[in-house]
Amino acid sequence: MDFKKLSAFLEENGLPAFRLKQVRDAVYKNFAVSWDEITVLPAPLRERLAAGLRVNSLDTAETLVSKKGDAVKFAFRLKDGHVIETVLLNLLPEKWSLCVSTQVGCPVRCPFCATGRKGLKRNLSPDEIVDQFLAAASYLKKTRGQKISSVIFMGMGEPFYNYEAVGEAIRAMTDPDLLGLGQRHISVSTSGHVPGIRKFAKDFPQCNLAISLHASEDKLRNELVPLNVTYPLSQLAKALTDYIFMTKRRVFVEYVLMDGVNNSRSQAAKLSSWLRSVAAPKYFTINLIPYNRTGGPFKAPAKERVKVFAGLMEEYGFEVTVRKSLGDDVAGACGQLAGK
Ligand code: SF4
Repeated sequence: MDFKKLSAFLEENGLPAFRLKQVRDAVYKNFAVSWDEITVLPAPLRERLAAGLRVNSLDTAETLVSKKGDAVKFAFRLKDGHVIETVLLNLLPEKWSLCVSTQVGCPVRCPFCATGRKGLKRNLSPDEIVDQFLAAASYLKKTRGQKISSVIFMGMGEPFYNYEAVGEAIRAMTDPDLLGLGQRHISVSTSGHVPGIRKFAKDFPQCNLAISLHASEDKLRNELVPLNVTYPLSQLAKALTDYIFMTKRRVFVEYVLMDGVNNSRSQAAKLSSWLRSVAAPKYFTINLIPYNRTGGPFKAPAKERVKVFAGLMEEYGFEVTVRKSLGDDVAGACGQLAGK
């Protein structure tokens, strides 16, 4: 919602300023997504507002619910016709996390990722990021009477290539007068954008940082995460060491396991020594994500091999989780968002 435009409209038409607060509360507290839902306003005023101002900038093109009901993928159409995807994940009983997109497509072009294969179309605005939250929160309220408890910036796009908009969206999400989430309930996942990590440490030291690592040797990482050519592992290690020193916070390491590519015993050993070169193991949680189908040449490892890799990392002293793949049947799992 463009609140500046609403404020100007109210002033130009001699309408009381409290209307602004009423609309703000309806949008941020009650998750209204259309003027019809803001019944605190008189109907004629709602009609006039609807003629020139949208409550939510996104149109829901599609809503897909996974068979188990633990993941909901939304395809949202933007004003210019582009489509982005947002996923609600029920990770714990009654706890919903929202995975939001920050760009249309992604410039990093990881070859295993459906989003990356599209390249970058454009950045999302702060409103377009926050509106994903508001639309998903409205859905959750209406269909299950539940709320979103955390937000993960891990959908389409590299968040730190759209830093200013992401920062503004985080401020709106954590502002007690707006969405009121705690900073610790916000996680931003980067593919290793070093200047972004450094800025994030200063701006949002209480938010969580996740790194999509996927390889701990430059040669392989250059292929799997092409941003590594610009910010190689040595620079990333330094930025993470400084991040941990400044924030004293644990870093989440995302590692998509691709069979025969990055899941050997020696690669587990290299991952351990690279992480140890950054900081002590207690500063990391390693999330192993068995590869999800995206139509590329990669394959998921057998369950046994995932177990072996996880076991090795635990032996090396790290906390490890193997991500259960929620939403695979709605193509809402990691690396599968493509805005088709
Ligand atoms: S994995 Fe992340 S950084 Fe890589 S192309 Fe996909 S969205 Fe971009």
